[in-house]
Amino acid sequence: MARPAAERREELIGVYRQARACTRCPLHESRTQVVFGSGNADADLMFVGEAPGVNEDAQGLPFVGRAGKLLEELLEANGLKRADVFITNVLKSRPPANRDPQPSEIDACRPYLQRQVELIEPRVICTLGNFATKLLTGSPRGITQVHGRPQRQEIGGRPVALYPLFHPAAALRTPKVKEQLAEDFARLPALLTERAPSQSPTAGELSPERPEAGRPLAWDL
Ligand code: URA
Repeated sequence: MARPAAERREELIGVYRQARACTRCPLHESRTQVVFGSGNADADLMFVGEAPGVNEDAQGLPFVGRAGKLLEELLEANGLKRADVFITNVLKSRPPANRDPQPSEIDACRPYLQRQVELIEPRVICTLGNFATKLLTGSPRGITQVHGRPQRQEIGGRPVALYPLFHPAAALRTPKVKEQLAEDFARLPALLTERAPSQSPTAGELSPERPEAGRPLAWDL
């Protein structure tokens, strides 16, 4: 039986409260605050980046710097709004000097992402860059090899289309990557209207409407 969106949202707020007090890895000593994620707690589309940077650490929200601006532009160019999707990261705390996430930090933070996926129940998850892609595909294949090709995965006991994309920060550094990211992004609206294979007895049938529209999740609890 499908769980009501309001019930899942309440539980997600509980997970946020746990994360806010988390001391599972040493990053809790240097962070200003936990960056849990933001957006629609009942979103069909979820984005998973790498880790908060300096702006995100200061504001407590993901993707609020230049990379976030590009992400918003790409969403809007494809008829999507930031408020409709849920955005989070592999790590919920900023690594000092924006260094790469360590395997032990990824392991410590992994249960939060797992619960977010289970409770939000997205149909499509875009992994942004190598860290999110390798974590959620469970494969060592890097983003250059796998970007732009949706993969059917089961996460939290539900079928999900995983859609690996280049990280917007990489796109800001390299014009060719930005072009590729824009091309891959343009296929997202079509992917969102597809049904997961295990839920589609009749080819070509339209997706059912979500029973309850999601309310945005605010993190100023
Ligand atoms: N880069 C990320 O991976 N995540 C953010 O939240 C911001 C920049």
